[in-house]
Amino acid sequence: MRASGRGVAGALLAMLVAGATLARAEPLVIAHRGASGYLPEHTAEAQALAVGLGADFVELDVVLSRDGVPVVLHDPTLDATTDVAARFPDRARADGRFYAIDFDLAELMTLAVGERVDPGTGEAVFSARFPVGRGDFELPTLSRSIALVQGLEASTGRPIGLYVEIKRPAFHRDEGQDISRVVLEALAAAGYGSAGDPRLYLQGFDWAETQRIRKELGYAGPLVQLIGGNSWPDAAGTDYEALVADAGLAELAGVVDGIGVPIGRVLDDAGGSTGLAERAAARGLAVHAYTLRADRLPGWAADMGELVRGLEAVEVSGFFTDQPDLTRRALGE
Ligand code: CA
Repeated sequence: MRASGRGVAGALLAMLVAGATLARAEPLVIAHRGASGYLPEHTAEAQALAVGLGADFVELDVVLSRDGVPVVLHDPTLDATTDVAARFPDRARADGRFYAIDFDLAELMTLAVGERVDPGTGEAVFSARFPVGRGDFELPTLSRSIALVQGLEASTGRPIGLYVEIKRPAFHRDEGQDISRVVLEALAAAGYGSAGDPRLYLQGFDWAETQRIRKELGYAGPLVQLIGGNSWPDAAGTDYEALVADAGLAELAGVVDGIGVPIGRVLDDAGGSTGLAERAAARGLAVHAYTLRADRLPGWAADMGELVRGLEAVEVSGFFTDQPDLTRRALGE
């Protein structure tokens, strides 16, 4: 028992040492919602496949259940990726949508998760991916996802990072829940989030909340401010145009380690540089681009290889990708 305990400690130490080099072993392949190009997003199966396909980080979007449990789900609503409408038909809000935060974890665990559809039409968002309605996947909790990734770290002998997005903190606050505090506590309890932690990035769209996480909640680990659109529901009043101006980047550099940007913010419609990635890198900010999709490429890129080369040319050092194998292969070309 003792010897095995030391063995585990030794393995963990080796992993941490290996991990210490991981943060510098850029570029990073970040599996966007798991290997979502091949399996329904954010399922345990998609997370495991992402690791099998060589991802450095597995991205986890997190929302809370009514009873305050962090679950891995991209939307605040359940309609696009689960059978909630069939299973709990009378639980929609006035807008017709089913919100995860209106369901206890035990109820969420009864849902069948599947490939993303347009909830209005029931049609697949990506037509050539995992078939809609096929399989019977479960909604993973954050703790189960962490256990899976840590288990795979042990069995593969390879450090695998978590790239955790705290979804809609303002919405959760309106619902009486402090999602940032809950997620930070869960991550800390699992051993993540110390200064310079090579196995974690925390990310969010809400700039006010990003600053709160750093300055009020005492989070010292790697932190990324996502850049979106001012009209997006995730923005919560954030002015992204101000953030990507020179003064904004200077302010960001005092709070976060990097920015997560749409491909179109760093490369224009012809694949030429917009200058943003270089200006951010000059401030010492890591630049991670989203989302690389082999089945939804920008017009200027013929394939994943061309897209990756275009991004590498402007100092992008992290790649949110739905197909981690194709991005990994392109990085090796
Ligand atoms: Ca995300």
